[in-house]
Amino acid sequence: MTGLLWQIFNVLKEVLNRTIKFPELLLTLLGFSATKKLRLRVVILRDERGLPLASNEEAQPAYEEARRIFARMAGVSVEPAGWRVVTAPHAAPKAALDVHCTDGAWQDDLGTAGGFFRSLMARTTGGTLTGYGQPLTVFIVRSMSTHNGCSLGAATDYVTVEAKTLRTTRRLLAHEVAHACGLWHSKNPANLMAPRGPGEELAHWQAAVLRTSRHVTFF
Ligand SMILES: [Zn+2]
Repeated sequence: MTGLLWQIFNVLKEVLNRTIKFPELLLTLLGFSATKKLRLRVVILRDERGLPLASNEEAQPAYEEARRIFARMAGVSVEPAGWRVVTAPHAAPKAALDVHCTDGAWQDDLGTAGGFFRSLMARTTGGTLTGYGQPLTVFIVRSMSTHNGCSLGAATDYVTVEAKTLRTTRRLLAHEVAHACGLWHSKNPANLMAPRGPGEELAHWQAAVLRTSRHVTFF
């Protein structure tokens, strides 16, 4: 039940922020482009034996890739939310290590996995009641049923990325973060929101939607 309340609360925060930022969205579409900030952190989970699923050195390049892509394509400066990459303090439950995407990410979020993710996010401050400037957290998980990365869009303040794909597909982290900032899939293979491929471009309107997400702020 707690998970459901969080989902509803997050969607309400998204609606509130999107409404307030609507004039800014229009200005951005007309060419307004002052640099904005997105607070982002990566948490590498530990398996049942307490072993990290990836090293800091394996996660950093994906973080840096997101920093580069968002600065270049959207004028958004990705900044650490307390830290850039950290390993979880203790072992994660199986439900959080082996997650679902299209076949059950919502149920995961309502169950043990979502509770665990929220407990880790609550260890640090930085959240706001209205959702304005809420940091995004990327959890590095062991496996995913149907995809390599997953986002529930505005309903959660986290996304998940599979450890083995983190090493091979750096753009995936940026792709999932962009979902959490309101973007959906593109059919253009050169686009960051293409489900597959090396694409990293964002159309002007996509940049405007990302820039007016509740996670992206001026200060
Ligand atoms: Zn996607």
